[in-house]
Amino acid sequence: MFATVVLVDLLAAMLVLWWLWIEPPVFADLGRSVLITVGGLFSAELTWRLERQRRQLTDTPHVNMSSVAILAVTLVSGPVAGSMAAAVLYLHLWWRASRWTSGIAPYRAVFNTSAMIISACVSYGVVRGVSSGNVLSAPSDVSALVLLAAIATFWLVNTLAVGAAIATAEKQRSIAGIVGGWSANALEIVTLFLGAVTAVFVELRPWLALFLLPLVYVLHRSDSVKHLEIAASTDRKTGLLNMETWRCLAEAGLRKARRHHVPTAVLMLDLDFFKRINDTHGHLFGDDVLRAVAQVITSETRRTDLVGRFGGEEFVIFLSDVNLGGATEVAERIRCAVAALEIVPSEGSSSSAVPVRVTVGVACDNGYGGDEVDLSELLLSADNRLFFAKGQGRDRINAGYTRQAR
Ligand code: GH3
Ligand code: MG
Ligand code: MG
Repeated sequence: MFATVVLVDLLAAMLVLWWLWIEPPVFADLGRSVLITVGGLFSAELTWRLERQRRQLTDTPHVNMSSVAILAVTLVSGPVAGSMAAAVLYLHLWWRASRWTSGIAPYRAVFNTSAMIISACVSYGVVRGVSSGNVLSAPSDVSALVLLAAIATFWLVNTLAVGAAIATAEKQRSIAGIVGGWSANALEIVTLFLGAVTAVFVELRPWLALFLLPLVYVLHRSDSVKHLEIAASTDRKTGLLNMETWRCLAEAGLRKARRHHVPTAVLMLDLDFFKRINDTHGHLFGDDVLRAVAQVITSETRRTDLVGRFGGEEFVIFLSDVNLGGATEVAERIRCAVAALEIVPSEGSSSSAVPVRVTVGVACDNGYGGDEVDLSELLLSADNRLFFAKGQGRDRINAGYTRQAR
């Protein structure tokens, strides 16, 4: 981790010196660079509350709006000016964050700035490599392609640099955790498009860039709303739906199924002797087990099925368009997949996998229950069946229709 950070910082410094030698910034261009940087600072001030909220809600690689200004300055005035803009904008971001509760460690702020500087320098290199004249002041038919290449390079280099640091710091992160999910990357790419458009506008008439400020704000805001939505609807520990959201969506699903006389099912799952796992291996390991089981349930169900954490070590699933046979099959698949889990405690005495078992109650609705949607009845029936199966010895399934004797 330390080596990666130092390497990225050194590379950034070398690239700036290289470009300073090859193409020193033109003094006459300074005004436009300052204008764009001030615009970037202004939009950062306008959106810092949203930025703070997003940092609290996400732990994926950081995407922020400063790349709009950094790419724009790079395209208009070259990579040395772009690097200076990156330094100013990230210094401002660091100062803002240091006034929030957590702040940013200085070495991380320097690393993020360096990653931006490398991205700016390399993407400018690509622009220079593929076009002889100035792509903005003397545009040609291929200018759009050149700008596209600059955007793609900027994004790729920045993602690789940040991804390398995360991968070396946290060895067990998933690919999405290292390079960010689709939406984070889409946002970064849209931000870079805005950067290229800013550069074109500034080249045309500097004041035109003002028109882009509301766009940056709206983009930032819509991204923030999406993160809030996710935080409000999911269980933090497992990433599954929380009970309020699950109930709301399952009621809507049941209503729709009744309208079309489609059968549905509710599965209630409870881990067997989970307290023993906690008592023997600790609650942190217990949490690992909960996350692993949540993952198994998600992978054994369809994307349209609703999987929620009922609470503690209990999970609920709403399946649509399945009869009793289908629902039992799903329950059996999950039961076997959970039993096949091999989770080894990282600390403590045991170095062998801890057995995990689950008992499932399945309640089916045949779709002919009338307009009165009663999810509670289905839930209660699934819970009763779960209780019955536990009494029979656990690690098993009890399934049946709601209005039918066991
Ligand atoms: P049974 O087979 O009858 O279900 O036995 P059990 O031990 O699984 O059931 P019990 O209700 O006795 O214990 C459930 C345990 O789940 C107790 C509680 O401490 C633990 N638990 C609840 N929520 C969490 C959590 O978020 N993380 C961890 N690690 N444990 C939790
Ligand atoms: Mg329980
Ligand atoms: Mg239990």
